[in-house]
Amino acid sequence: MSKNICILFISLLLISVLCNISNSHEVLVSVKLENSNNLENFRNIRFIGKDFALIQEDEDFLALLDIPYTLLGDFRENSLYYLVKAGYDNYHVQELTELGNILYRFSDSVVLEIEPHMERYLITMGLPIALLPKKIKLSSPRSFWMAPDIKTKEEYAADAVLIKEVIDAVSVNEIEQFILDLQENRDLDQPGIAYRSRYSLRVAETDDPSDDACDNAAEYIYNKFKSYGLDVEYDSFPHEVLTQGHYQMRNVVATLPGSGPNSTSIFVITAHYDSVASKSPNWQLEWKTMPAPGANDNASGVAAVLEAARILSQYDFDYTIKFITFSGEELGLHGSKHYTRKASEENKDIVGVLNFDMISYDPDELDIDVITNIKSEWLADAMLATQSKFNIGPLKLHKIINPEMVYSDHAPFWEQGWNAILSIDNSNFDSPEFYPIMHTVDDTIDNLNFNMASSMIRIAVGTLCSLADPEGSEPHPDLAIIKDDLVLSPENPSRGESVRITARIANLGKADARSVPVQVWLMEPISHEPRLIKEDLFDLEVNQSASIQTSVELTEWGNYEVLVKVNPGYYIFETNGRNNVISRSITLGSSSMLLGKMMLYPNPMAPGRDKNLNVTYTLSKNANTRMEIYDSMGNTVYKEYFTLGEPGGKFGPNTDINWDGTNQMGEKVSGGIYFCCIVSTDENGNTSSRSKKLLIIR
Ligand SMILES: [Zn+2]
Repeated sequence: MSKNICILFISLLLISVLCNISNSHEVLVSVKLENSNNLENFRNIRFIGKDFALIQEDEDFLALLDIPYTLLGDFRENSLYYLVKAGYDNYHVQELTELGNILYRFSDSVVLEIEPHMERYLITMGLPIALLPKKIKLSSPRSFWMAPDIKTKEEYAADAVLIKEVIDAVSVNEIEQFILDLQENRDLDQPGIAYRSRYSLRVAETDDPSDDACDNAAEYIYNKFKSYGLDVEYDSFPHEVLTQGHYQMRNVVATLPGSGPNSTSIFVITAHYDSVASKSPNWQLEWKTMPAPGANDNASGVAAVLEAARILSQYDFDYTIKFITFSGEELGLHGSKHYTRKASEENKDIVGVLNFDMISYDPDELDIDVITNIKSEWLADAMLATQSKFNIGPLKLHKIINPEMVYSDHAPFWEQGWNAILSIDNSNFDSPEFYPIMHTVDDTIDNLNFNMASSMIRIAVGTLCSLADPEGSEPHPDLAIIKDDLVLSPENPSRGESVRITARIANLGKADARSVPVQVWLMEPISHEPRLIKEDLFDLEVNQSASIQTSVELTEWGNYEVLVKVNPGYYIFETNGRNNVISRSITLGSSSMLLGKMMLYPNPMAPGRDKNLNVTYTLSKNANTRMEIYDSMGNTVYKEYFTLGEPGGKFGPNTDINWDGTNQMGEKVSGGIYFCCIVSTDENGNTSSRSKKLLIIR
């Protein structure tokens, strides 16, 4: 073939591929994260869980990527997609199947596809819901590049006096009054009327008239912010409930402008002020008049925002602080989705978000869950550090890394790549401690624990004060770890070869920093749990840099993740922890066909007592794979085939392979010695095999 013909041929091929793409359709799929360290390959990530991601993508494009996925269904423009916290049992799941299609289940949640006219029935169920994000940004553009300010102990002592003053200013009486006012929601113009509801559809601007109870609460919050001398605005947005009406909802946003060099960067404290009582009977018919006092959910969170505003408005900070109360949260996080979308379009630099949703209920020992994703962990650590430094209690904070807990207003900030955490009195729906009267007419102030609320709010206000950096302090050191300064060599190691990990940190600021901890963690392909492999302390003078170095041997086929953390646990107080974690993936694969570690569990196995034998192994590349179980006479009792690239025959760890102890006819095999054998054959016909002895007891 001549060169020109060749080019013509390739062009035609390309055109035909592109045409196919434009003709074909979008699908929703799930992808195991271990199969795709590189999420950047996908054009539209809609959700990232602990070990999976949901992707909306063109079917042909997916085929080109050559990444194993599970098809959930066609994407339909006219459908609504919701995440629903349905609990671990099947009770609510069963109910949900009557409303629409359950596309996916993970931990206590489902992905539900419904037609728009079914939305109001979903809302009536009273379960925590969130719209499936439209598109997740992997990180905000500036997040890895800004250096943090770290204070020396002496400087911190000066700030500590002020932070202590701020914490001590938190008043239980004020908090109680805020919650009572919001629960009663008295008409601001006619004091005789108490709405006792803040349901977000009860607004003035609508074609479905009721009273304006929700607007009245917004106005109450607006007036409070105003009285503290803050800049306040309504951030309104339209909402439609199909076959019911159009509504204009309002977030209330107050701003305390920063007065230092970081004034364009923003810390945010948030809570939703709308309420619902959808678990009480007749809600669907009577929401225009039924009470929805929402004392714990979420007048308590709003009290945190108002109390922070009342106190912090009296000081000047380097960073800008925004105090935001959202509407439409109970209907699917509409207020925060609207706000974050707009803030992202305006390229706002949001450094960190503290969200509060139900912080006043606990039947026994007082504890609160602080929900975070990996990148936002520094904010949770900042709260824990504030609590221990200022000895605030009695309250136990549980830091929980759970990217799947998306049922409050922190989640839309995650979608835009920003750092955010949620404080909630219990995040486990099935726990006996979970607020039993959530979303009912009984969520009233007499159920609340003000010791708990005020402890949480002290921590919140103290943390926000430290983060936003009170004005008038000394120059800061500025520790930076920059993406290109994490080097893995060699980048494509062979098995058993030692990989050198080098990370460099530098102090670009104007003051020295001492005893800065730096840690290196390794996430391995099978366990996928981070393991600490190196920790060091560094003294860094101004303009000085240092390196942490370690090496590790990789022995399992698959994808590894190296994480470097600076100042983990926030022992040294920083005002910006966005660059505290850096990660890099490293792949151990091979062009030759090799089987890695093979594990059988449990062994011995007692069918009847043990449901399944779990088989795990790693592959150096995708391969057609056969699992065979034979007895001591060499007779095959069970055989299963896995296709190249599919689970069981894919590169890296293959973990969910099960055998229930029955033979091909479905009969239980007798006790004795057996062998489990894995044989893998790659596309070139090269084979590798491994076997292990297995004891069956009857
Ligand atoms: Zn809530």
